[in-house]
Order: sequence, then C-alpha cells, then structure tokens
Amino acid sequence: AKHFENVTCRKINTSSAKKTVMPAWVIDRYGDNSTLRFTKGSMFPIIHYPNEVMIKVHASSLNPIDISMRNGYGAAALQVRRDPLHIKAAGSEFPLILGRDVSGVVMETGLDVSYFKPGDEVWAALPPWKQGTLAEFVVASANEIAHKPKTLSHSQAAALPYVALTTWSALVNNGGLRDNNCKGKRVLILGGSGGIGTFAIQLLKSWGAHVTTTCSENAFSLLKDLGADHTVNYKTPTLEKELKDLKMFDFILDNVGGRTEDWALNLLKPWSGATYVTLVTPFMLNTDRLGLANGIVKSGITLGNKILKHLRQGVHYRWAIFTPSGPTLDEVTELVDKRKIRPVVEQVFSFSQVPKAFLKLEGGHARGKTVIDGS
Ligand code: NDP
Repeated sequence: AKHFENVTCRKINTSSAKKTVMPAWVIDRYGDNSTLRFTKGSMFPIIHYPNEVMIKVHASSLNPIDISMRNGYGAAALQVRRDPLHIKAAGSEFPLILGRDVSGVVMETGLDVSYFKPGDEVWAALPPWKQGTLAEFVVASANEIAHKPKTLSHSQAAALPYVALTTWSALVNNGGLRDNNCKGKRVLILGGSGGIGTFAIQLLKSWGAHVTTTCSENAFSLLKDLGADHTVNYKTPTLEKELKDLKMFDFILDNVGGRTEDWALNLLKPWSGATYVTLVTPFMLNTDRLGLANGIVKSGITLGNKILKHLRQGVHYRWAIFTPSGPTLDEVTELVDKRKIRPVVEQVFSFSQVPKAFLKLEGGHARGKTVIDGS
C-alpha cells in the first residue's frame, strides 16, 4: 500500500492535491429532505488504489435511488460493502454524500491508469456504496468511467450514465438483447416517461425494435418524439385489455413493478424465448428487514420460485440491477455522438438548489431527468 501511495502521489500534480476539504451536500442521518446539509468542509476524497481517478464534478443528476438512500433504503446491504469486516462503528457512513451520476474532468490518476489522463472529460455512474457526486470532487475506479460524448455539455451528459447502465443491465446483461438481435422484436416498456424509460425507448429504437410503452397521456408526444411506436395510457381502466389486444410481445422491461407482475407476463409470446425483466425488486428491502444473509436467502427463494413458475408457462423471468461499467458507457458515448440517443433533461438545478431538486424528483411525474449543474 505504501508503494502505491508514493507513486500515486507523484502523479498528483494539480492544485487539488493541497486541498483537505471541499464543498458538498451531505446527510448525517437518514430521513426526509431536511437531512440534506451543505458544507464547505467535506473531507477531500483520496485516491486509495492505483486504478482510481479523481474527477472534478461539473454536473450530476438525481435518480430515485438518491431519494431512497436519503431515506435509509438499502443501508444494511450497502454498509456491508463499505465495511465488510464490521470494523467501524454504527453510523460510520456519515457524513454521506448522495448522487450517482457525474460528468466532469479528470484531475489526478492512480499508477495503473493509462487510458485516462488529467484534463480528460469523463462521465460515470458510481455504485451506491461509494461516496457520491453531489460534491466538488469524487474518486472513481477507472473501469467505472468513460470519455464523455463530445456532442454533449456536462449538464446534458450527467443525465445519462445511471439510467443508461441500468437499462443496459436489464436489456443486454439480463435480457440478452443487442444491436444485432432486436430488429423487428416487439418490446413493451412499462413506464416510458422517466429517466429509464426515455433512455430505453431510444436504445431499443436505435437497435431496430418495435417499441410500445405505457405512460400518462401527457407524455405521449414526448415518447413518440423519442421514437416510441405505440403509447398506451396506463391510467385507463382497460389497460390490461388494451395491451392484450395487441400482438404479443417478445420482451417486457418493467420500470413500474408492484401489481404489474400479476398480468404483464401474460402479454409475452410463450415458448419463443420471450423475456420479462423487472427493475423493481425486493432485494434491498429484504436485506433492510432481515439483515444481509437472510435477505439474500429470501430474495433468492423468491426469485427462484418466480423463474420456475414462469418457465413452466414458457417465458423467462429476470431481475436486473444497476451495474457500473466504463466499457458500457463507451458504447453509449458512441450512440450519443452518432445522434442515435439524446439526454432528456426535464429540469436543471444549480448546486445550491440540491434540496429543491430532491423535492422535484420526490414529487414524481418525471419526464426524463433532473440535473444538478455544479459548474
Ligand atoms: P423516474 O422517477 O425517472 O420515472 C418514473 C416514471 O414512471 C415517471 O415518468 C412516472 O410518470 C411514471 N409512472 C408512474 N407510475 C406509472 C405506471 N403505473 N405506469 C407507467 N408509468 C408510470 O424513475 P426511473 O425511470 O429512474 O426509474 C424507474 C424505476 O426503476 C423506479 O422504480 C426505480 O426505483 C427503478 N430502478 C431500479 C434500478 C435497479 O438497480 N434495480 C435502477 C434504476 C431505477 P407519471 O406518474 O406522471 O405517469
């Protein structure tokens, strides 16, 4: 470790090396929006490992997980990732910085980092057990970051990484879809108007799929502009029948969860490899309620039972979670720079307005993303 520290320090050649504190939005306990506290004295992040980089944050964006984490959701499981040996005292995660998305500029690099250098414009979404991006600087692993699209400003770019990586995890890693096997496939996106939906529609259209999506009626024109072939108002009492009357689907991405599982799988073409992937899983809730080990067991049993039940009916059932990945972001950068995908930014807040941005997201009815411009 000493060796790495010395070499890492040699590479630190910017003024940030002298800093010991930085501005950030932190929470000191879990709770409502009043827990958000601005400080100029947040501990300056340090490059601990040779594969890490320090990024100056130019913009960030909010996701539902930021609200959930502020409320304490997933705290048990995330704390095990932060402190696997249980060495630290309870509450050692505080002051906790929220925010997963970042678009910014590399300031410093660790010894093993050769693909990125100081001055590079990069983007990333960081895993939830790491300190977040609602701060002036953040440290990330080089394999979590990618060069940001040249065609986007920082505040446009910051709208995409978390939703792009989550969608990729659902469609590609868990669902087996790719650019070369989507042409003509009929895909249903349940919940098309939020961060995930607005990205997923564009990705699937760029890969040649036929996309139907559910949303509120006032989102129809936005989603059609993004390429959706068919929009269905989820508030209509005849929703299930309307969807049932359509040709059956090859794939369903569920961003809504809850009761949708009871009927949505019947919309898939059975015995044809059709797949349902949901992003709304009870995994974190189970670990919060039952502790990590029992929570994993309970989730495993629930998932296993559901996979078997649906397999007997001829369709695949999957859960998906956000998975950080620089190489995946490289693919997204290419799609963005080829103008196949654009960020859908609903509202931009300044760094001083972070609590207002949380309230906006918490109010629901997102139409794309809520961005924090930190520049
Ligand atoms: P957003 O808050 O950006 O968007 C949610 C959207 O859903 C809003 O546009 C809302 O608009 C719409 N909506 C609400 N109810 C329904 C409904 N019954 N049918 C169709 N649309 C509906 O969320 P994200 O897109 O970022 O995330 C979507 C879901 O995925 C969330 O539950 C989130 O927690 C989950 N998620 C899970 C991840 C994982 O790792 N498993 C990672 C990322 C997200 P309106 O109410 O006006 O209709």
